Amino acid sequence: MAELSPALKQATPVLAARGEGIYLYDEQDRRYLDFTAGIGVTSTGHCHPRVVEAAQRQVATLIHGQYTTVMHRPLLELTERLGEVLPEGLDRLFYVNSGSEAVEAAVRLARQATGRQNIVALQGGFHGRTMGAGALTTSGTKVRAGIGPMMPGVVFTPFPEPYRHRCGEDEAVRYALAEFDQLLVTTSAPRDTAAIIVEPVLGEGGYLPAPPEFLTGLRERADRHGILLIVDEVQTGVGRTGRFWGHDHAGIRPDILITAKGLASGFPISAIAAPDALMSQAWPGSQGGTYGGNAVAAAAAIATLDVVRDEKLVDNAAEQGQRLRDGLRSIAAGQPLIGEVRGLGLMVANEFTAADGTPDAATAARAHAAAAERGLLLLTCGPHGNVVRMIPPLIVTGDQIDEALRLWDEAVGAAVTG
Ligand code: PMP
Repeated sequence: MAELSPALKQATPVLAARGEGIYLYDEQDRRYLDFTAGIGVTSTGHCHPRVVEAAQRQVATLIHGQYTTVMHRPLLELTERLGEVLPEGLDRLFYVNSGSEAVEAAVRLARQATGRQNIVALQGGFHGRTMGAGALTTSGTKVRAGIGPMMPGVVFTPFPEPYRHRCGEDEAVRYALAEFDQLLVTTSAPRDTAAIIVEPVLGEGGYLPAPPEFLTGLRERADRHGILLIVDEVQTGVGRTGRFWGHDHAGIRPDILITAKGLASGFPISAIAAPDALMSQAWPGSQGGTYGGNAVAAAAAIATLDVVRDEKLVDNAAEQGQRLRDGLRSIAAGQPLIGEVRGLGLMVANEFTAADGTPDAATAARAHAAAAERGLLLLTCGPHGNVVRMIPPLIVTGDQIDEALRLWDEAVGAAVTG
């Protein structure tokens, strides 16, 4: 009998039978509050009626029109709609299927457009598991250990980590920017450096928001040296952080933006956006693939953008994220093992730290499991696995946040005594 590969290890014990809004139901119809949102994918919740309707209509009309062979209306319409929300000037789009593939496309474009090879990535960053995106990934060794050598031409620079280094945010930013400056004079000269790629909130690496001064500092240096700034909005985009794009918090403009996950509420589609001057450096046939820009996924993405706009989900993410962090902070105040609660919008983290200051993955794992037992699905992250993160769909209500907080309070209590 065939079985699934052990590489597919589930973070929760749930066999999902159906999803509705913020809830998942198992085969016994037990209900779970889904604060994983499929790792930030189900932005409009599970099976939002408008997304379902748009996808069903498209399935019955045209499922697949291979985009280097024929063009189809949903992809043209999605491009127009994204044009309304993308940063000024990033008006050329290219589509693939996943976050990793979009990262690959961004790297290809950066190398094509600059004629330079090196890509600078942030220590602790996550950009995917393909050999190129994986080469940029250091949120833990599981993506690379025993698998390398990965794509060459990647160098790393530190991300500001005030909590880990027990210092103020200003100091952490000064240190990280000084290290980047140093990298450019010791390791990767500007003439060899095509791009720097950054997540507005370090995602898999531990839910660490990039301080705005860090992103403006990178933008300044990129401008000075002709280096492209690639912003990976795979997890932070489409309202997740309480602004439409995560980098909006810093008021910077990327040269290349990557979006995926929440874009189509669960259908596989991703995109890179760049100005024409850059995108026109990518010659036909150098990017893309058979399923890129699938018509059903594009229709679902258009419906997702409609729902995000009509239900004011960006504002909701900001408001409910604040409510969630406030509640978590009062729980953490009575639990010394939760060293920090942080996040932006509905990307929220609880970092578990033992009394001696070391990462406490064991208590985090117990709290995560105790929450699942109580019907609250969460995920861990961070290189040590000691961060429990909460990423509910953007439609979450205040009552649902309060319900999750009640369950989390109980779960943490059980984890600490257990
Ligand atoms: N970039 C970021 C910031 C991500 O969080 C992820 C997925 N967790 C990826 C890229 C890779 O996306 P995918 O799994 O769709 O390839």
